[in-house]
Amino acid sequence: MNGKRPHEVVVVPGDGIGPEITEAAVRVIEATGVPIAWHEALAGEAARQRYGHPLPDVTLDAMRTARVALKGPLLAPKQTGRVTIRREGVENTYPSVNNALRRELAVFANVRPIKSYAGVPSPFPALDVVIMREVTEDTYIGWEEMKGPDEAWAIKRITRQASERIFRFAFQYARRESRRRVTAGHKANVLNLTDGLFLQCGRDVAAGFPEIAFDDYMVDALCVRLVKQPETIDVLVLPNQYGDILSDLCGGIAGSLGLAPGANVGEQVSFFEASHGAAPDIAGQGIANPIAFILCGAMLLGHLGEGEAAKRVQAAVATVLKQGRWLTPDLGGRARTAEVTSAIVDTLQPGRLGVEGEKGGG
Ligand code: ATP
Repeated sequence: MNGKRPHEVVVVPGDGIGPEITEAAVRVIEATGVPIAWHEALAGEAARQRYGHPLPDVTLDAMRTARVALKGPLLAPKQTGRVTIRREGVENTYPSVNNALRRELAVFANVRPIKSYAGVPSPFPALDVVIMREVTEDTYIGWEEMKGPDEAWAIKRITRQASERIFRFAFQYARRESRRRVTAGHKANVLNLTDGLFLQCGRDVAAGFPEIAFDDYMVDALCVRLVKQPETIDVLVLPNQYGDILSDLCGGIAGSLGLAPGANVGEQVSFFEASHGAAPDIAGQGIANPIAFILCGAMLLGHLGEGEAAKRVQAAVATVLKQGRWLTPDLGGRARTAEVTSAIVDTLQPGRLGVEGEKGGG
């Protein structure tokens, strides 16, 4: 502890491997010495058992009050089903707990830094991309309609307000993280109005950040570029649907789901969660890869203004992966969750890290 007032952070252990990787991430964050007062809140199966609801008000209220949370994975819709939240007399039903959480907390950006690491085999060793996906609109607003028995329509909604917000957020991130380029993905040659507006907002916002390069690609050309020349893409801004697809593409080519952290950012509340799910198939065995969630911890530290501690965690993860001794089974190794965590905690000790100020990664 360094005598500073502790940051108040909610921690939601979640389902499946959630409690195991939460223990790991909390251990690593505590090893940085940044004072944090953790407030545990339940969601998913644990909440259903305790409160009879997978996303109780007490959890949402705790997250709204603290404004920042480390959130473990929750089981997918097929296991938990739809969720109804009643608030101030209004009732909303969502397809899953994860979806309910994002919508109730008014998240507007999903941020996924995805990179390859020395020590982890990947056909794309130069991959180092931060995906910024707009999550409030586009075709995923779910406005669909049958126009007769054999015709279905879906509405694609793009607004200047939401598009400028995601681009502003991306450029501010690029400035803060010393990233050099922001790229927009779109299909404005076909969707002149909707994707055209999205792209125009990117150009408008870019004008206010002259030190950061801005370019754009059609989303199909972007897929080719990501697998042929990933080093040319740095911060990538996408509308909701393309963002969903390309996040998974990048996660896949980076080598393992167990390495990709993520942040859900809102005007009021932000929460940090790994890109992977609850992995019920390996829960309780002590072999889950904790690294994605530990890197979520680094993103959380950065969000709290503890950038130096965040960089130390990223560097410790990179060092441990490079050594190749402490790899969990998903990375081809035999190490256990607790061993990987201890190796990262040891590497964080003073004098063990020549922090090389690595770019991104968490
Ligand atoms: P969801 O729909 O919530 O994404 P899912 O079952 O489709 O759930 P995951 O839970 O991410 O997806 O699991 C996909 C596979 O990846 C599983 O075999 C799981 O064991 C593995 N996996 C996911 N996360 C990790 C991790 N942190 N460490 C090791 N293996 C993992």
